[in-house]
Amino acid sequence: MIFAFTLTLLLAAVFALAWWFERARHFRTEATHRRELEEQRAHREAGLREQTQRTVALFDRMVEGLIVVDAAGRIRLANRAAGELFAFPPPATERTILEATRHHEVAALAARLDREPEILGHELRLEGIGPPRFLQVNALALRDADGGRDGAILVFHDLTRLRQLESVRQEFVANVSHELRTPLSLIKSAAETLLDGGKDDAAALTRFLQIIDKHANRLTLLIDDLLMLSTLDSGHMRLNLQPISLRSAAQEVTDDLKARAGSRGVVLENAIPAGLIAQADPDRLRQVLSNLLDNAIKYGRVEGRATVSARALENKRVEISIRDDGPGIPAEACARIFERFYRADKARSREQGGTGLGLAIVKHVVQAHGGEVRVESEVGAGATFLFTLPVA
Ligand code: ADP
Repeated sequence: MIFAFTLTLLLAAVFALAWWFERARHFRTEATHRRELEEQRAHREAGLREQTQRTVALFDRMVEGLIVVDAAGRIRLANRAAGELFAFPPPATERTILEATRHHEVAALAARLDREPEILGHELRLEGIGPPRFLQVNALALRDADGGRDGAILVFHDLTRLRQLESVRQEFVANVSHELRTPLSLIKSAAETLLDGGKDDAAALTRFLQIIDKHANRLTLLIDDLLMLSTLDSGHMRLNLQPISLRSAAQEVTDDLKARAGSRGVVLENAIPAGLIAQADPDRLRQVLSNLLDNAIKYGRVEGRATVSARALENKRVEISIRDDGPGIPAEACARIFERFYRADKARSREQGGTGLGLAIVKHVVQAHGGEVRVESEVGAGATFLFTLPVA
């Protein structure tokens, strides 16, 4: 009896021990399994985070603005360029596209993608502070595996610079056509007058031939200036840089212009001290000096004085100035005077045979030498044009 009881007790103890070991093993396996799962999840999450960061960094390098919205219209991703275009501070995520861009047309485009698979080449004008911006939008509706709506992706290409260049080009072509048409029509009407019998009158013949000659010269000057600007624009102008005595260069130009200055009673003065040596292309430097001195003669005072002088600056540069004692230039004209075809006094420029391109050429040439050009003037107190060049 006792034996049977002891045996039962023993068996019960063995079973209890076996059960306890099994439970412990089970808990251990479960804990290991849970830890492994935890590690795998952390690893996956880190991988996903890294991948997202890499994608965002890649998108941030794009020139185009990029916005990805989810099916509820909330931003999931917006790159740096999109933030700059619409001036929204990061992060844009979780906001609606309207909240972030504050632009109804952009929000309407995103909404259209509920019905349309894609929108290509949509042009957008952004008005705000400052000049308007022009954008081209390409957008694509995103679908999930079952073909349901899964948001949209919108790409914004900034066309503003292109548009500006296009309008500068159009304005330039219109100006060139106008400048060509005026002397051409004068030449044509002078020739017609001569053909209609004017040639039989000796005085008229001389007068009309002079008109033809004057305007043909004007056309030649215009075409020369246009070709020069086109070479400067193309970047193909090769500068033959060498040490040049500024005093000698100015002397050559004042000698060349002496007769022209004399015809208006203008005295040309070369006040450049000897010993100032610039590093420049001699032909181009003569062209700059000649354009500026020619303007001082043309637009300065009759019987006035035009002076060219120079001084050394601290930063291995020299500053050359051309001063006249003429009527000067109003402040609003000073701000635009280096633009192509800009004239402060249109009638005067035409009468003097000006092309309106002289100062634009001066600016280009000086900049090609790494220098700067500016004008200082007060109405009634003459004008001074100043430019810098590197010293040799
Ligand atoms: P233009 O062929 O008409 O002389 P520029 O580009 O050389 O063309 O000059 C542009 C305009 O600047 C001129 O039409 C003139 O109105 C003005 N200008 C240039 N130099 C002077 C000056 N020294 N004094 C007054 N006006 C000037």
